[in-house]
Amino acid sequence: MEPPEKIRVSIGTAIVLGLTRGRIDAEPTTAYLLTYREGKCQAACAFCPQSRRSSGRADMLSRVTWPVFSTREAIRRASEAFRLGKIVRVCIQALNYPSVVDDLTALARLVKEHSDVPVSISCQPLSRSDLRRLFDAGVQRVGISLDAATKEIFDRVKGSGVGGPYTWSGHFKALKEAVRVFGEGNVTTHLIAGLGETEEEFVKTIQICVDMGVYPALFAFTPIPGTLLSGNPPPSLASYRKLQLAHYLITKRMSRYRDMKFRNGCLVDFGISDEQLKAVIRRGEPFMTSGCPGCNRPYYNEKPGGPLYNFPRRPTSDEIARIEKIFMS
Ligand code: SF4
Repeated sequence: MEPPEKIRVSIGTAIVLGLTRGRIDAEPTTAYLLTYREGKCQAACAFCPQSRRSSGRADMLSRVTWPVFSTREAIRRASEAFRLGKIVRVCIQALNYPSVVDDLTALARLVKEHSDVPVSISCQPLSRSDLRRLFDAGVQRVGISLDAATKEIFDRVKGSGVGGPYTWSGHFKALKEAVRVFGEGNVTTHLIAGLGETEEEFVKTIQICVDMGVYPALFAFTPIPGTLLSGNPPPSLASYRKLQLAHYLITKRMSRYRDMKFRNGCLVDFGISDEQLKAVIRRGEPFMTSGCPGCNRPYYNEKPGGPLYNFPRRPTSDEIARIEKIFMS
């Protein structure tokens, strides 16, 4: 099976791979690719510019532009960049269309022909046999994005509320299948903060994912022109910092949802001592981009001028001092 001739490459990745010229403040440590097709995704997610319900630009995903290149050239360069130590992973993100699994399988095989770079695929819920095809093609990790932290929000932004094909239970079923095929810890989901959930609901879903063997990658909601949610605000930075810290403590097995305390849905106690909390904040790591190993997604959520919701690098001591103030206030 032949891979598609063309592929979209995130602008930051295209610069790192030398496919285009430009200046970037933070280099991606993963090469981000996106399946190319004329027309939009068949799903209808209210926050996504690739959605068939969006009138936004087809070359955008989140805040990032994705110009089109030759697939073979992009993958050859990504393999070379891996050998040179410029990237540590290739992530292929997929729109929803009928032949997507054929394309993903062929793309993964092509990457593996060139190098041993670990490959992540971020896609719609798939059957066990399709997941197995990806695994057999050499894919290391698979991501199936819940995006929403509650069933009610899921239905509203990705499911029946927008005429989308997805269901909350269908996503969980696919995540469980993915854990069976790829193994615990090798499955990722994306969770977007700021879609109307409480902090308590968000943290609870982080815990549910971790208990299933699924690693949740955190995103801050970003309004994109042309999408159904273009008029909604991003989450407050203070609230997002709390969610990042809770995510860190849960994924590092330092605390659990049931040990944390909430008041009116707001997170007020992380379930560890103040000393431990200070030490963890000072590491800076909880506030860095979370996801597959080596995924730093520069400027997916934020303008280069900030505020940085997800740091694509370790925060500086000044940045950590500012974060500390949020938790002390
Ligand atoms: S966490 Fe990063 S590398 Fe993994 S699927 Fe998501 S965007 Fe891709």
